[in-house]
Amino acid sequence: MTSLAIRARWALVHEEGKARIVADRWIVVEGDKIAAITHQRPEGAAEVVDRPNLFVLPGLINLHNHVFTEALIRGRSEDLSKSLYETNLVYGLLMPFGQLAMQHLSGSECEVIAEFGLMQLMKSGVTTLMESFRAGLTGPFVAAATRAGLRFYAGPYLFSTPDLDIDPDGKTVYRGGGGNADTASLDEWRSLHREHDGAAGGRVRVTLSPHATDTCGPDLLRAVRGLANENGCLATIHVAQNREEVVKSRHLYQRSPTEYLEWVGFLGRDALLAHCCFSDDSDLDLVKRSDATVINCPRSFARGGVSAAFGRFHGHGLRTVVATDGYVPDIISELRTAGMVSKLAASDPGVATAPQLVDAVTSQAAAALRRDDLGCLAPGAKADLVAINLGGAHVTPVNDPRNALIWRAHASDVWATAVDGRLVVNDGRYLAGDEAAITTKAAAIFDKITRLGESSGILGRAK
Ligand SMILES: [Zn+2]
Repeated sequence: MTSLAIRARWALVHEEGKARIVADRWIVVEGDKIAAITHQRPEGAAEVVDRPNLFVLPGLINLHNHVFTEALIRGRSEDLSKSLYETNLVYGLLMPFGQLAMQHLSGSECEVIAEFGLMQLMKSGVTTLMESFRAGLTGPFVAAATRAGLRFYAGPYLFSTPDLDIDPDGKTVYRGGGGNADTASLDEWRSLHREHDGAAGGRVRVTLSPHATDTCGPDLLRAVRGLANENGCLATIHVAQNREEVVKSRHLYQRSPTEYLEWVGFLGRDALLAHCCFSDDSDLDLVKRSDATVINCPRSFARGGVSAAFGRFHGHGLRTVVATDGYVPDIISELRTAGMVSKLAASDPGVATAPQLVDAVTSQAAAALRRDDLGCLAPGAKADLVAINLGGAHVTPVNDPRNALIWRAHASDVWATAVDGRLVVNDGRYLAGDEAAITTKAAAIFDKITRLGESSGILGRAK
């Protein structure tokens, strides 16, 4: 029985492992899987999306994001001076402000903020999200993702030194443990994994998310490697995201952040490394040998005047995916930035092409997740799909739909998305809730947390 049929003016299909564009097809879904890709409109489908000019492709997979801090620091992280940006943004503003919010918001308020962010990502075509957050937010995030119908890889943070801050000179202050494994936080992760992994019909998975190389000591990272092996789950971490992290790693371990990860045994096929902006070529060689994935989030770095070029990592032969990080929850404009930053960095218009960028958030991202049922449009694959309206004046004429999507389309062109064969966005609308009501509720919570940030002095330091 056909549960869903989508008319595709163009479709990005996968045949014998190769992606190619075909025209004028129907994508036929039965249950949670693609049953067929045909010329004929199927009879008796329970739901039909029948529009001209839809480009149907595998749902977009976004493997690094922080909904919570993204919303909290909107309008506060741009146009900072260089010195303030480098020293203050992550440790002086983002992390303490996020922690303050968590301490003062109820579980249901946290859930509103989670849904507010997930909704925006889904409206930009995201069907799978890996999201890292403070462990206390796991319940609200899993509840929001389950209601939204999103495929969700939850990454509750593990830290050796959770109470990061900056001193009056702008230097990072590491309080708490001296790099030892925090047994309580590992136990908490085990319990969250037991409770949530496999929930929502298997759409919710729990990953290991040690925060960063400068906040996680060797014992903790060795324990994480053990848990990844024991549970067969993925492990993701921030790596070389600023200069100070590299300096600290060399000082403490006489190794670069990547060498440090290799030394503790963290690197491997199941490791996803966010950023690597301040990694040198020998670090990238290490990543390549380990078959780990690099997660490239160019826009949050471009904001700070730092070039994080997709083309550099891709050109090095690394499995490279593109993700939104904690800045602007719109994967389509992130991909465009990835292309533009790469071309500028290489002074070469031929790098970071539209097909490579689409591949980064479909088949490459699915490979990073070790999921051969995701990231491809083919009979038997999971019916995680996005249908983008390429009929607008700003994209017409469409000579190649991937080119039109990457260089000209907007999130507002996303017409429908489906996860596990079920529509979660249709007519450009989020289906699990009322967008205006969610936004109004979230705005009131942001007002409350802004007042707390001002009275605590945290927000004053960002000026
Ligand atoms: Zn991040």
